Amino acid sequence: MRPGAIALARTAGRLSRRLGRGGGTSLPGNLLLRVEPGAAGKLAADLSGGSVLVSATNGKTTTTRMLSACLRDAGHRLVTNTAGANLMSGVTTALLERGDADMGLFEVDEAALAEAAGQLGPRALVLMNLFRDQLDRYGELEALADNWDAMVSRLRSDTALIVNADDPAVAALGESHPGRVTFGIDDVPGDRELPHAADSTRCRRCDGPLDYSAVTIAHMGHWTCTRCGHARPTPDVRATSVTLDGMRGQRIVIESDGERVEAELPLAGLHNTYNATAAAATALSLGVPASVIGPALSGRAAAFGRGEVIAVGDRELVLLLAKNPAGANENVHTLLLDDEPLDLLILLNDRAADGRDISWIWDVDYELLVPHVRSLTVSGDRAWDLALRFRYAGLPSERMVVIPEVSRALDAALALAPESGRLHVLPTYTALLDLRSRLRRRGVVDAFWRDG
Ligand SMILES: [Zn+2]
Repeated sequence: MRPGAIALARTAGRLSRRLGRGGGTSLPGNLLLRVEPGAAGKLAADLSGGSVLVSATNGKTTTTRMLSACLRDAGHRLVTNTAGANLMSGVTTALLERGDADMGLFEVDEAALAEAAGQLGPRALVLMNLFRDQLDRYGELEALADNWDAMVSRLRSDTALIVNADDPAVAALGESHPGRVTFGIDDVPGDRELPHAADSTRCRRCDGPLDYSAVTIAHMGHWTCTRCGHARPTPDVRATSVTLDGMRGQRIVIESDGERVEAELPLAGLHNTYNATAAAATALSLGVPASVIGPALSGRAAAFGRGEVIAVGDRELVLLLAKNPAGANENVHTLLLDDEPLDLLILLNDRAADGRDISWIWDVDYELLVPHVRSLTVSGDRAWDLALRFRYAGLPSERMVVIPEVSRALDAALALAPESGRLHVLPTYTALLDLRSRLRRRGVVDAFWRDG
């Protein structure tokens, strides 16, 4: 590799940070990739512990964060990217600043994963789920599954492939890959039905309809093809006991081949059960002892916007990112875990990073929330579309306020929440960033956030 190219890219990163342009999280890598397209692979080659890649439509940031805790607690020095920089440029930028790291841990955008896996030749690859997300950017879900299928067939045979047994599209990947490890939730709490917005309910082998004996989230659960009999594999790593403790978190037991991980997660909802089980499965396959994994998972506070709690005056904000119907539906279920009246602020933007098409709000089961809503403030570029959605869901207009401007909406929503109470905030991705910068300006959130 041309040594001048690396020096130039690093300088550009420092300049970009000094100018306050996006923290320089992608620009140096972008520059380097232009002059040296295979740069990431070359930079990663001297990581003695190899690289781990995590991809999913939903949950990759939290899972990467949990896995990072397990690997650090096991003594690894990690180089990682930030959530907002999960394309090749972001991975390359992180590698430029790898210091004395012995292992790379990167969350990678679903559509960029084939290139990242091809370049880095990962030691472990974690595939968690595929949901409909930003269709205008990716095209069909099936095309993405085909793309992942081709990528998996090109993996080195010694790559540990960690896949979600409960997601039929993901479970069908790499079935003959030698290092494949499956994970899933055996103990499914409660009784859920397949939502009408479910994304992937056809068999990947024969296109027959799937039947479910248990549903966890959207199209995930215990599935069997009614035509060819292809079924959820018995997971190698299983959440065998899941006790959800409202919005406060959950107790889980994860078992695998004589290993037992017990964790008290400070994160609510079944989607976080999946994130923790995926992180545990990966850590175990990388040789981290179960006795290290449990405490590492238990000590993990929420990643920014993924269940994070922020004190504002005498009230608390709970931030729950919702960028697609599956994520938003999961938030709905999480909010219903505590049987208390809800004060909500929901923000909907339709900028490039959110996806321009907001018709997905009609696939979210907001109807379930309506009986519990004490106050709802809707905001963002498409506040009025949300207002219409909630009118159709049956929310009386006297319980709803429409304020497109974010700062004023936040003030109004806080005022509607009771003293010492909680305001639950459900933003789309760019609305989350917007909200964060406003909270920073108010001195509420001090450090520049690193985890997206
Ligand atoms: Zn089938």
